[in-house]
Amino acid sequence: MTSNLQSYRKAVRWGAVLLFFGVPFMRLNGESLLRFDIASLRFFFFGKAIWIEDFFLILLFIFALTFLFISVTQVFGRVWCGWLCPQTLMVDFTRKMDRKKQTILSRMEGHTFTAVFSVLISACMIWYFISPYEFIKDLAHLELSRTAAGFWIVLSVITYINFAFFRHGFCTTVCPYAKLQGIMFDAHTMAITMYPDRRDECINCLACVKTCPTGIDIRKGFSQGCINCAECAQACGKVMAKKGKTSLIGYVYGLEDKPKFFRANVLITAGLFLIFTVLFTLRLLFSDPFAFEVYPASKSMPREQEGRIINGFEVRLTNRTGSDVTVSLSVEEAEGWDIQPERTFDLASGESVRKEIYIVLPEEAFGKYPVRTFSLKAETQGEHPASVFAEAGFRKPIGRKK
Ligand code: SF4
Ligand code: SF4
Repeated sequence: MTSNLQSYRKAVRWGAVLLFFGVPFMRLNGESLLRFDIASLRFFFFGKAIWIEDFFLILLFIFALTFLFISVTQVFGRVWCGWLCPQTLMVDFTRKMDRKKQTILSRMEGHTFTAVFSVLISACMIWYFISPYEFIKDLAHLELSRTAAGFWIVLSVITYINFAFFRHGFCTTVCPYAKLQGIMFDAHTMAITMYPDRRDECINCLACVKTCPTGIDIRKGFSQGCINCAECAQACGKVMAKKGKTSLIGYVYGLEDKPKFFRANVLITAGLFLIFTVLFTLRLLFSDPFAFEVYPASKSMPREQEGRIINGFEVRLTNRTGSDVTVSLSVEEAEGWDIQPERTFDLASGESVRKEIYIVLPEEAFGKYPVRTFSLKAETQGEHPASVFAEAGFRKPIGRKK
């Protein structure tokens, strides 16, 4: 197993890179699979659009991800760092920079590769906020906005400095996750360790130390800088293979090396992950296709005309679907109503309108009450019909209590 670890890591690394560059290009229902669109302040998630007004939904998603991250760390330690973290992946791809003895030419080659890589990665990061189709088209026509171009340049420079100079120093100094891991680990968490009962077999060849990207001597025990990449385990495995033995270093679950997945702290965080995932999914699946809000019009007083009561309202409608819709308004639980000057509104995808309307009700609709609440319905017809309701308070003019 230890001898194959780096092959598995390589496969995972390529898979992660393909996903990272591929996801912005993937579309579902005509929109990005996963993108926070800066221009319209919408978060696209697997064919659904989440509006900034529904920010709590994005918060639910962030909470779910956070608890998933914590529960995985409690069980598998810093497996994220060694196998999936973009920092580790990109540093692995630019390993040429780590060579001690290099000619000026190979040094320049390493820096050029890192610079090109940084520009590409930075563009990909921006594609999670600006559609890559628009970005590439604008770039080809030299029409990229100043903001996008500015971000791209700044991000490229930061990424280049990070990969060319900080490298794994970032993990040991800046990365907040590395600092927090201490509170997530317990006595059963998996970590790269030298098997305690095989310490005597070490021949002190230092192959494990020389190969470590963060310069750790894992034989001295657990280190906060260890990213669980298992390169030391593989290096030791090669040395020990010559003696017909297996690696002295490997992934170990706690002091007894017994995996124990069902423990209180893991169950709590995994449970919270499930709760937030279910809440997020349900809310996403059953979210309203358009926002509909009704407020009493501030400048309009209720009035009476030929036995009918007129109340002014301000309605706000936002089309959250991916297509253009026509929304019609109606009054529920009342007969003989009318809406003026218009009761249907055409809304393009993503469009918001704010309109003043007058709702006319026959006096009998109030019964014996001077004030009544009615439900207003906003509905769309067509391929995906939908209805959204809002409550509106109606009043008779003052002095007309009966
Ligand atoms: S000690 Fe081993 S697992 Fe940890 S960072 Fe170094 S090489 Fe990777
Ligand atoms: S590679 Fe193995 S044998 Fe060599 S120093 Fe490290 S632990 Fe000891």
